[in-house]
Amino acid sequence: MPEETILRQDLHDLIATFARFGATDDGGVCRLSGTAEDKAARDLFAGEIGGRGLRLDIDGIGNMFATAMLNQASGDAVLVGSHLDSQPTGGRYDGVYGVLAGLLAAEAIVARAAAEPGAARRNLVVVNWTNEEGARFQPSLTGSSVFAGVQPLESALSLLDGDGQTLGDALGAIGYRGAGALTLTPRRYVELHIEQGARLEESSTDIGIVAGAWAARKISVVFEGEASHTGPMPMPRRRDALRAAARGIETLYDEVEQGAHASAARISLYPNSPNVVPSRAQVWFEIRHEDEKVTAAIADRFLRRIGAAVAPLGVTATIAIDEKRATAALDPEGVKLVQSVAGDLGFTSLVMKTVAGHDALALQKRVPATLIFVPSRNGLSHNAREFTEPAALDKGLAVLIETLWRLVTAP
Ligand SMILES: [Zn+2]
Repeated sequence: MPEETILRQDLHDLIATFARFGATDDGGVCRLSGTAEDKAARDLFAGEIGGRGLRLDIDGIGNMFATAMLNQASGDAVLVGSHLDSQPTGGRYDGVYGVLAGLLAAEAIVARAAAEPGAARRNLVVVNWTNEEGARFQPSLTGSSVFAGVQPLESALSLLDGDGQTLGDALGAIGYRGAGALTLTPRRYVELHIEQGARLEESSTDIGIVAGAWAARKISVVFEGEASHTGPMPMPRRRDALRAAARGIETLYDEVEQGAHASAARISLYPNSPNVVPSRAQVWFEIRHEDEKVTAAIADRFLRRIGAAVAPLGVTATIAIDEKRATAALDPEGVKLVQSVAGDLGFTSLVMKTVAGHDALALQKRVPATLIFVPSRNGLSHNAREFTEPAALDKGLAVLIETLWRLVTAP
């Protein structure tokens, strides 16, 4: 059997195996950072690393680095990776695909380097970044942001989940608050990921090459009214925080213009009893657009209107979080490299922007980073029905292997 066939077999088997950790009844996965399910996936990944003769290092925020020494004389490394954590309604491919494809790419490259002594000029490291999703601990992209030096380790360790547990304690409890570090100098980062949108599928394109990212604005608003009995309290005297939240949500949707994406996707309600008019509601809003000026304009209009929108209900609106994510550009040389690799392998490719955040965007703040997409069926992600055709996964892996080979052997 040719070697590539063995690799493909391994990729699909591995994806199916990892889908067991945190498997949900509907075929998806729920694998939140720092949970028993996360530990199970990390433990198996550690086993796969050891089984391939790679060295494992775990840093203080739980990032896992699997090093393939291809050139003992070099202190430099090309990094490849993604994340093993998921959303509560996660699919089988988001993140996991990039980590496992990275692992198999490393295996292929070790074999190729052994067959061509002296060709590899630098080393290769496969990474699982901690808490990419930000489902349990916000904000997202935690491990990659700490590694990139844009978030201090101490502040990342003290992020709180909804029950008041810190990320540091959660990592400690599962044995992944490490004392190690990547000892090599990172020179480049490459990530392979499912698109999570529909552009590749709609254009029948094999490979997406990400040139940059949309801007995002993440705003959380606390609506405060007054608790009272839902029965006898006269309607005009009610100060209903949930009704105000509904008005706030409609206010945002009123302001969303063509081309922008917006959501109100999380709400926290107090006291959340069927017999108490809610006194407090917190809503998490998002606005995304290719142009930062448009996200800013929508946010400004929303923030200007929201107080007046809920005042007639006797409710106040206070901004609790207002986080701006600027547009980002990924390394243009990496875009050109993947374009030529895809062409050489006979695959079609499209240079595009990502709407979603990815570890590659955090890494770009430290080293040149490259993000490669494969199609998502129906553009569906963060959903149990998330799916990418096996042949499309294989094309992504082939592009990843060749891209990494050219990067580790480049003069
Ligand atoms: Zn992801």
